[in-house]
Amino acid sequence: MAKINYTIATFGSHSALQILKGAKDEGFKTLIITLLDRKDFYQRFPFIDKIITVKNYSDFPEIEEKLVKENIILIPHGSIVAYLGLEKNKSMKLKYFGNKQVLDWEADRAKQREWLHKAEINLPKQFDNIDDVTYPVIVKSYGAAGGKGYFYAKNRQDFEDKIHHLKDAPFVIQEYVIGVTLYIHYFYSPLTKTIEIMSMDRRYETNVDSLGRIPLRGQEGLEIEPSYVVVGNSPLVLRESLLPEAYAMGERVIKASKELMGERGLFGPFCLETVITPDQKFFVIEISGRIVAGTNLFINGSPYSDLIYQEPMSTGRRVAREIEIAIKENKLGEILN
Ligand code: AMP
Ligand code: AMP
Repeated sequence: MAKINYTIATFGSHSALQILKGAKDEGFKTLIITLLDRKDFYQRFPFIDKIITVKNYSDFPEIEEKLVKENIILIPHGSIVAYLGLEKNKSMKLKYFGNKQVLDWEADRAKQREWLHKAEINLPKQFDNIDDVTYPVIVKSYGAAGGKGYFYAKNRQDFEDKIHHLKDAPFVIQEYVIGVTLYIHYFYSPLTKTIEIMSMDRRYETNVDSLGRIPLRGQEGLEIEPSYVVVGNSPLVLRESLLPEAYAMGERVIKASKELMGERGLFGPFCLETVITPDQKFFVIEISGRIVAGTNLFINGSPYSDLIYQEPMSTGRRVAREIEIAIKENKLGEILN
């Protein structure tokens, strides 16, 4: 494998292992920026060439000053957005894989709906007026990460009983879609203008996914409320007749992004978080404009990446491959911010 004179870097959490393993497989040097107490953990992995520790992620701007002079490309993931916040992501000076304009469209729930609506994606109903609500609903506070701070309400009384927990945080009331959750991991190449489905996962969320293990009569009187905090991910392959629409949704989302966010639009890895109803319709509950952690299941490739590649191709490796091709074709500027 030819050595490449660039280092791929990311923060130590979420999908860092997958990203750096993929980068190493493609011939890059690798760097992890992590909290001091995770140093020993990341040292276990020989594909990580260098570890930089920080006391808090808020100290990152100081080390960024030094890193910016080196040939480093940062791959953003969910924890980078969660720990540094939107503004610091946008103002970051390091070479950043992806289009930062997407961050604004993703962070604002109204803009996200506008984008998905333009892409002709089915969305759960959202209610502006409490008197119009049809139940059940899921109530989502703004800025909640990973399903924390969401609640389910089966009727108006239930809603009134629970809403005060959110205190003054702004929230949205959304139709609760009953169906199978499925998270589809895409990769859109700005170099070849093609979309690939890399893999799919389901999130395992506690306690909503474990409630079924206790029979209803065992739950009665316990007042257990469903919560949606993700703890891990499991695989699922999709009924093949649903696959054409899965591809088509990805393409429509990319097309709409180019109309809304300037010529480049969304590119690289992204995920549509769907719920599939009994009439075989996809409803999208959220879009994530970067690598999602469910891709960690497929460090060695997936049934879907195997249809495209003759070698194990994770999403992390796919990102490194795109950067490698861009370097060779002198097009790095097209894929970085
Ligand atoms: P963490 O670094 O684990 O605190 O995660 C930061 C963000 O990424 C949170 O919003 C998490 O909900 C999300 N996240 C982390 N791991 C996963 C996972 N395995 N599946 C889905 N989302 C995740
Ligand atoms: P999100 O933060 O939007 O990814 O949502 C976290 C979790 O809440 C999802 O993985 C689902 O389990 C659940 N959820 C969110 N929105 C809905 C919805 N409209 N209907 C049913 N479940 C939902």
